[in-house]
Amino acid sequence: MATERPVNFLSGSPLNRLSWMRDSAIFLDTLAASPKARWVAFQAGSPLTAYQSSKSALVAFPTADVRPFIGEAPLFGQGKVKGERSTEKASVLESARFFGARIVFIGVLESGENDFGRIEDAEAAANALNGSPYFSVDLTDEDQSAVDALLERARAAHPGANVSFAEPRSAIRGMTAEDAATFAVGRSMLDWNSRNRFCSACGQPTHSVWGGWKRACSSLVPWADNGDRKPCPTSKGLHNVNHPRTDAAIIVAITNETNDKILLGHNKKFPGNFYSTLAGFLEPGESFEDCVKREILEEAGVHVYNVRYHSAQPWPYPSSIMVGFVADADPNEPIRTDLDNELADARWYTREEVLSVLNHADGTNISRREYKRIDDNINGQSNVANKNGPPPTEGADAQAASAQEASAASAGPDPAKIDEPLFRCPPMTTIAGVLISDWAHGRFPASPSANL
Ligand SMILES: [Zn+2]
Repeated sequence: MATERPVNFLSGSPLNRLSWMRDSAIFLDTLAASPKARWVAFQAGSPLTAYQSSKSALVAFPTADVRPFIGEAPLFGQGKVKGERSTEKASVLESARFFGARIVFIGVLESGENDFGRIEDAEAAANALNGSPYFSVDLTDEDQSAVDALLERARAAHPGANVSFAEPRSAIRGMTAEDAATFAVGRSMLDWNSRNRFCSACGQPTHSVWGGWKRACSSLVPWADNGDRKPCPTSKGLHNVNHPRTDAAIIVAITNETNDKILLGHNKKFPGNFYSTLAGFLEPGESFEDCVKREILEEAGVHVYNVRYHSAQPWPYPSSIMVGFVADADPNEPIRTDLDNELADARWYTREEVLSVLNHADGTNISRREYKRIDDNINGQSNVANKNGPPPTEGADAQAASAQEASAASAGPDPAKIDEPLFRCPPMTTIAGVLISDWAHGRFPASPSANL
């Protein structure tokens, strides 16, 4: 049997999302009532983690522990009156939630055989399920004294660990691949729910349906008092619900046809000698291949061709998907970074040069101080402050985040050290790091033009 290449970090969740059961409030409520149900908690996008001995784990609570936030049953399929289940049939009421903290059904970590064929009885099916259901809960807007009490409970359960809402980019350092994938979906989904509280078509509040995977306009519930307002445009057609947002971005390893050089860029927001693969957001009306060609021309002034897919990585900051490609370019074509002014520098490196960086102890290491500078650069670039300046640089956040992961628990490279790497690049927890390493170790397929 062929060996499947390892999935990128933050993807490959072991949870069965059971997406076809999200409209069954009885099923979801039965899962939530199970003693095996587990809840991962977030506050302002920061996951609650237990950190100890360089290992970071999501804190998972039983349902009883988060009851003060999520409320009493029904958690899903709520109706007009708190504590009552809706009995009316309407798509905007399917597993609807109007009361209590924002929650999302993430999926089930199966522990045995399950038959998901025809499910006649949702409650019986949920009770018969082999595995642990996982949910995420957003504590951002919850009473802080109750949150503190939950934290005390978590600290008692993890003696010796640092239990806290961890900075979301560095939180994944030391996580298992499974926890990282659960974090990725939990964070993106809560973020989406928190930022889409009003209907973009008519301005009325929205509410959660399908266990947190859709939001619907509250003007469409049977008991809505809409006065003489015009019907919400989402009441008709395929636009009757809002779907979770995923922002697609391309990230590209650009090589020459003979596959012995790679083009890397130094973003203006990066510390001194940090180089990475080039990236940017997909725009409407573009194929991924179009986007690769446009972005690389804009950032480096280089025409690329032979665009081939490599792999992808979910990037939950807050909801991107980094779609990785390999492409060819001519190293003799002049590089120019003055078009979109995102990069301070872009240059071709040889395999020997890249390997020397990857084999260097500090090659994928960025100090906390340097990371702080990147973070300040990005966070300081608010939309208001930016009004008269250039737009936020695409892909910079992703690459800066890579830098944060690279920031090891150590203080980073010693400035007094003479043996500095030629440059530094992202670690293997990022697709940028995977692309660079795969190329350096000869794992890319040959260019289609190589033997022409
Ligand atoms: Zn509406």
